[in-house]
Amino acid sequence: MEIINIRGVNFCNVTLAEAADWAADTLTSSPDTPRAVFTPNSEIVQLCIEENEYYALINSADLIIPDGIGVIKASRILGTPLKEKVAGIELGEQVLRIAAEQGYSVYFLGAKPGVAEQAAQKMQEKYPALTVAGIHDGYFKKEGEENEAVLAEIRAAAPDVLYVCLGVPAQEKWIDANRTALGSVKLCLALGGSLDVWAGNVKRAPKLFIRLGLEWFYRLCCEPKRIGRMMKLPKFLFGTYAEKWRGRK
Ligand code: UDP
Repeated sequence: MEIINIRGVNFCNVTLAEAADWAADTLTSSPDTPRAVFTPNSEIVQLCIEENEYYALINSADLIIPDGIGVIKASRILGTPLKEKVAGIELGEQVLRIAAEQGYSVYFLGAKPGVAEQAAQKMQEKYPALTVAGIHDGYFKKEGEENEAVLAEIRAAAPDVLYVCLGVPAQEKWIDANRTALGSVKLCLALGGSLDVWAGNVKRAPKLFIRLGLEWFYRLCCEPKRIGRMMKLPKFLFGTYAEKWRGRK
C-alpha cells in the first residue's frame, strides 16, 4: 500500500473500496495483535502539528485514511495527491457489510447509553445477517478497574471487529493503550460519532454538501460550538501553503 506523508501523518493512498478490501483481508488473516484503523481529518493533523506528541499515536495505526476534504486539498497543494476522501463512517459501514456477509461478529463501544443499541438495531435491519456480539457505552473511566471490566466484557463477547467511538483523540489513545488486551478482536476502527449517525440521532450532511466538499460547513451550521475545533482547518491549509513555499513537505 502506498503511504503519502501529509504534514507528518502517514496516510494510506486508498479508495474506499481498497480500504474495505484491506479490512476483509485483515479479517481473513487473523493477525496476532488487532490491526487499527484511524481516520484523521485536518483538525487532527493540525493537532499533531501543534502538539507533536500526537504524531506517534496517530501514526501507530495500520490503516490511516483521510477523512476530510482539507487533507485531500493539502495532498494536492503538496503535489502528492491522495486518491479520494475516505469517510470513516463509510468504511465502518462497508466493514459491517463484510462482517454480515462473511460471518464475522462486531462489538460497538462508545456514545451515550442507549445509542449503540439503537445503532445495532438499525444496522441489523439493514444487514439482517449481522451479529452484534456486544455493546458498551462510552462513558466509563478509561483506566483502572472500570476499564478492566469493559475489556473483560469485550473479551467475553469475543468479537472479530471492535468499533471504538469515543471521540478524538480519546478513541485513538484507548485503542493504543488496550490493543493487546482485546482477546479475539482482529480489527479496531476509531470512528468518532458514527454510532450517533447510525442510531439516527445525528444526520450526515446531504449528498450535495458531501460532493461539494462542504460537509464541514453543514456540521458547523448544525453544531456551531464546533467553531473552535474547526478553526484548525484554515490554520492547517495556510500552514500547508507555507510549507509548499518553503519547498519541503
Ligand atoms: N463519547 C464517548 N465517551 C466520552 C466522550 C464522547 O463515548 O467520554 C462519544 C460521544 O457520545 C460521541 C462521540 O464520542 O458519540 C464523539 O463524537 P464526535 O462527533 O464529537 O466525534 P469526533 O469529531 O470527536 O470524532
